[in-house]
Amino acid sequence: MNFLNISQIEYITNNYKTPVYVYSENKILESSQKFLNFPNAFGLTVRYAMKANSNMNVLKILKDQNIKIDASSEYEVYRALSAGFLGNDIQISGQELSENFDKLINTGVFFVATSLYQLQEFGKLKRGGTCGIRINPGVGSGAFTAISTGGLSSSFGIWHEYIGEVKKIVQEYDLKITKIHLHIGSENTSESWVNTANIGLNFVKDFPDVEILNMGGGFKMAIMDYEKTADLISIGNAVKEKFEEFHKQTQRKIHLELEPGKYIIINAGSIIAKIVDIVDTGKKGYKFLRTNTGMTEMPRVSMYGVQQAIYIINNSQEKEKYVVVGHCCESGDILTTKLYDQEIIEEILLPKVNIGDIIVIDGVGAYNTAMSMKNYNSYPEVGELLIDKKGDIKEVRKRQNLKDIWKNEIY
Ligand SMILES: *Cc1c(COP(=O)(O)O)cnc(C)c1O
Repeated sequence: MNFLNISQIEYITNNYKTPVYVYSENKILESSQKFLNFPNAFGLTVRYAMKANSNMNVLKILKDQNIKIDASSEYEVYRALSAGFLGNDIQISGQELSENFDKLINTGVFFVATSLYQLQEFGKLKRGGTCGIRINPGVGSGAFTAISTGGLSSSFGIWHEYIGEVKKIVQEYDLKITKIHLHIGSENTSESWVNTANIGLNFVKDFPDVEILNMGGGFKMAIMDYEKTADLISIGNAVKEKFEEFHKQTQRKIHLELEPGKYIIINAGSIIAKIVDIVDTGKKGYKFLRTNTGMTEMPRVSMYGVQQAIYIINNSQEKEKYVVVGHCCESGDILTTKLYDQEIIEEILLPKVNIGDIIVIDGVGAYNTAMSMKNYNSYPEVGELLIDKKGDIKEVRKRQNLKDIWKNEIY
């Protein structure tokens, strides 16, 4: 397991209701430290993509590491401000313009326009102002289309052929573009990051005021044995070379920004849950482990067919094949599917399970609690715990009680 030991699991199951998310401060510190050491030519800012997991305690740990924020909505901006970040620690690059744009900009956040319309609205509000632009460079990457965030089928960013229109708006409102922002999906190799750097630096050439190239997130952190964690040192060194070459050619020293989400938090979060039933579909069928968790806490298996690291806590020496399913009355609520194909269930080999056994699911710190389908089937939103760096276990979000589930309904 990533960080939980048996005595912690026992303590947690004795003192808290399951399922429960558990985060490790040490794991967060470990991964953020790796990012802060990312090799760079002319300075580095690491912005945590807080949509990955926005619990206030996670934000505070990162703030103390001098990590800044990438926010995807005005609400994330206000959440980060509540965690103690200052306005100018925060960048917003969202799909939707704030309803109260004026108020948002006055918090001091750095605005990255992700469409021509957004750029124009910023110009109207802040003639002569400074902002960044997110560009869709026409290429994307990722293990599968649904997580690619660049290319023809991606709505994120200003399409690269519209740089002329950007320049018109910049001129009309006397804007200063100081940042080029790219975030094109999930990348792993040095070559792909060098490619992103080259694409980005090419756009930097077009804008003389640009001081920062933000290359987005998408750095891979392995959760399964067959996956490989991005090697930040070799990626960083390869990217650094490109920034140095650019400096030689143009005399411009470009500051590097990165926006990891998943890499920082995915392996710093686990779920502790229970096996609540075991059923099968006969000799030709499957044996299913029913858990008291599922898409309500881990939507990404149902959405994308990602695989999670699953452990059963018991002393059984025998092994058996199981399909692990969630607790929702929903055919898609399955925790073991073919990789990136959530339509096809897959068996995994586990120690022989008894009803009541504890199940631990690792690698769920990112895009799970934040994306949760809480309250589906009226299951309450579950609690969150943090194991701090001293090893103390504290509750950082309460589990909803029964009435919380419908408390906003008017009847
Ligand atoms: C989601 C997102 C990220 C983080 O992506 P990860 O894959 O979690 O590293 C970074 N930047 C932007 C703009 C994003 O939308």
